Amino acid sequence: MAIREFDFEREPTVSIVKKILTDAIKMKATDIHFDPHPDRLVIRFRNNGELTEYTNTPDNVKLNIITRVKIIAGMNITDSILPQTGTINLEVDGKSHSMQVSTLPILDGEKVVVHISNYARNLKNIDRIGMEQEDIDKIKNLIKEKQGVILVTGTNGSGKTTTTYALLKELNKPDMNIISIEDPIKMPLEGVNQVQVAPDKGVTYKTLLRNIESQDLNVLAINELVDDETTRSALRLSTTGRLVISTLNTKTVFQTVDTLLNMNVENYLLGDNLIGIISQRLVKKLCPNCRSKKEATEYEKTVIKKITGQDVKEIYYPEGCEECKEGYLGQSPISEVIPITPELRDAISNNRDREYIRKILYQDNDTILKDGFKKVISGDTSFSEVIRITDIKTDFAPEEENIKQYILGNGEKEFVDDTKAPREDIKLENEQLKKMNEDLTKGPAITEPKSETNKAKEETKTSSTKEVKETKKEEITKEEVKKEEKPTTEPKAEAIVEPVTVSTEEKEDKVENPTVPEESAVEEVKEEPKEEVDLFDKLNLDSDDDDDFSYGDSYSII
Ligand SMILES: [Zn+2]
Repeated sequence: MAIREFDFEREPTVSIVKKILTDAIKMKATDIHFDPHPDRLVIRFRNNGELTEYTNTPDNVKLNIITRVKIIAGMNITDSILPQTGTINLEVDGKSHSMQVSTLPILDGEKVVVHISNYARNLKNIDRIGMEQEDIDKIKNLIKEKQGVILVTGTNGSGKTTTTYALLKELNKPDMNIISIEDPIKMPLEGVNQVQVAPDKGVTYKTLLRNIESQDLNVLAINELVDDETTRSALRLSTTGRLVISTLNTKTVFQTVDTLLNMNVENYLLGDNLIGIISQRLVKKLCPNCRSKKEATEYEKTVIKKITGQDVKEIYYPEGCEECKEGYLGQSPISEVIPITPELRDAISNNRDREYIRKILYQDNDTILKDGFKKVISGDTSFSEVIRITDIKTDFAPEEENIKQYILGNGEKEFVDDTKAPREDIKLENEQLKKMNEDLTKGPAITEPKSETNKAKEETKTSSTKEVKETKKEEITKEEVKKEEKPTTEPKAEAIVEPVTVSTEEKEDKVENPTVPEESAVEEVKEEPKEEVDLFDKLNLDSDDDDDFSYGDSYSII
């Protein structure tokens, strides 16, 4: 259902394209998609993370519209074979808007995506990015440090850029020399020396980092730690009285540390220089005009209790009104902000056992899920939103296996029939519920030992079971971990994996292609982030943008 109709017979293309761009800005869209179909062009806007149809054009104007967009983006209109990128700068209501445009030749023509950066909207003070006060305070303390590395992490579209710019804005004082290496420069920051990476002209991260030392800088921002070498250079630069801010594409702080430790970078450099890691994801905010408070279901109460430790009776649900879209208005980050303590520093420098590192990371800091469910309790977002962005593979510690299974089990009914194996965990669900209320810290025997064997690592969504064995992780030597992970209950693992993997063939295919097959179980745990990405690609999951895989998208949870 199109939002806007044009008179394509009479109105000139120039005017139509301008209206499309202007409408997108006024409607606060973040992206415009021009999708060629065999007989028409469909134009969609992304708002609050969701794509909806804006208009569609008859076939005879399809090419004109695409060509016009390419012209104003400074692209070569005679070339429709190669992907191109360009920029559009447009002023609307006195505000300047920068748009990054990219084309992709597809079967029915050229697909064009316009990404809109709204300076006014994106450039926020740290107090206004939507994090909990506790996290904001931690961030403010981190940037008081004169040297070290702060990482802002999250998948694409998780709001990393907004947070990074907010940090730079906070640091941007007359007595500071700030250099920001970007690719691309998303918005101008007055007082910050922004440098555009241009590999075709020889301006690479490598050359810039090599030459930047003589620039007498206080703060260096690097778009992303793109490779081991960039990471090492960034860490070295931070050893000599400079604050370095950069990003990594990871899902949790734990995964970030794990990823860093798997890089070809000296552990001591990491341990000595990392000062804090921020991890974030975006959830849709409940519309304050129409959200309604109702009695929470037993399922919701149990999940919230288990993750936040709080008893709730009622929570807010989306309704929908004139002001909002299906009960939601805007987005907000949920986050983990973890300053690197001496204990963590030591653990990182010594490349300690991952579960030991996980434990000390979260002993004084909320996990991203806990932050999310706190926002459910406060009515900022809904239970289903937090479930939607939950990543079953990365968000749970081994000892949280029971709650993970509980969350999984409740949403699985429709695919139980597809599985060949009996769902032991569903049989045990009632028992789980009882036990959960009895003892939240002691892992009940709800899970048969499942595996995180060499091959079936991606099945970490089902995850391992060494976890159920209390919290003696510190003592678990690498060898022990290996041994413990051997026992498998394939049927069960499959049952859980099934909904995600779609077909067993795909899964096996995946399993046969471990990137580093000879690695031990322990080393494998380190490889997890890469593996997950592969898995996503293999399974053709909807990884459009960024969004973490979330079962909430595919399966009803209530
Ligand atoms: Zn509303």
